[in-house]
Amino acid sequence: MRAADQIVAITLGEMGKMIAPGVTTAQLNKRADEVIRDHGAVPNFLNYGGFPASICASINDVVVHGIPSDDQVLKDGDIISIDCGALKDGFHGDSCYTFPVGEISPEVMELCKTTKESLYKGIAQAVEGNRLGDIGNAVQSHCEAKGYGVVREMVGHGIGRAMHEEPEVPNYGRRGNGVKLKAGMCIAIEPMITLGRREIYFERDGWTTRTIDHKPAAHYEHSVAIMPSGKPADILSGFQYVEEALGDRFI
Ligand code: MG
Ligand code: MG
Repeated sequence: MRAADQIVAITLGEMGKMIAPGVTTAQLNKRADEVIRDHGAVPNFLNYGGFPASICASINDVVVHGIPSDDQVLKDGDIISIDCGALKDGFHGDSCYTFPVGEISPEVMELCKTTKESLYKGIAQAVEGNRLGDIGNAVQSHCEAKGYGVVREMVGHGIGRAMHEEPEVPNYGRRGNGVKLKAGMCIAIEPMITLGRREIYFERDGWTTRTIDHKPAAHYEHSVAIMPSGKPADILSGFQYVEEALGDRFI
């Protein structure tokens, strides 16, 4: 799984090098597909439930599952989340990063920062003996303290030989509630956080998911393994290549 997730990490880094005003999401998709295959993996998003691309590219008020297209041209001040997955030797990787395009407003920067922080707060709770509610509560309380919305309809998930396995990993919950975490479990934690209202709607293409008030949303995701004897979770994916690509623009 780490091998698959590291290919995803490299691909996200490549996205970071390319993302700039004037680039289309179709160009990003084409490059991501190449990078994944060049590393001997298969883009597991492609044809998943009929999804027509190798990444999800979600701009501004698109929360998740944006379909790359030639018509979507990035512009200064946008944010774009690239959700990416790879299948390598029978195991799945899945990770997402929300990138700034050019210069973004301080308000949107704060949304992105807080969402990413909440991902790591969730991961800190992904410890043997804790419960899923501890993860969800950590994400939720961090984001709601700043007045942001926590999307309810979409959740994280178990991951392994399938991209989406049991259990569901919500970004909200009560401490001490839910499935107990055991060493060896692998889960994808993925806060989807909105600047305004938390309600979303699905477009008629069956995929694109937007905030109901059209305010922006951020989305960060890692796949992690629960470790034995109370050790911190092992983060199988990584943002190190994104950081390399973005330099001081890394969120
Ligand atoms: Mg994902
Ligand atoms: Mg996922």
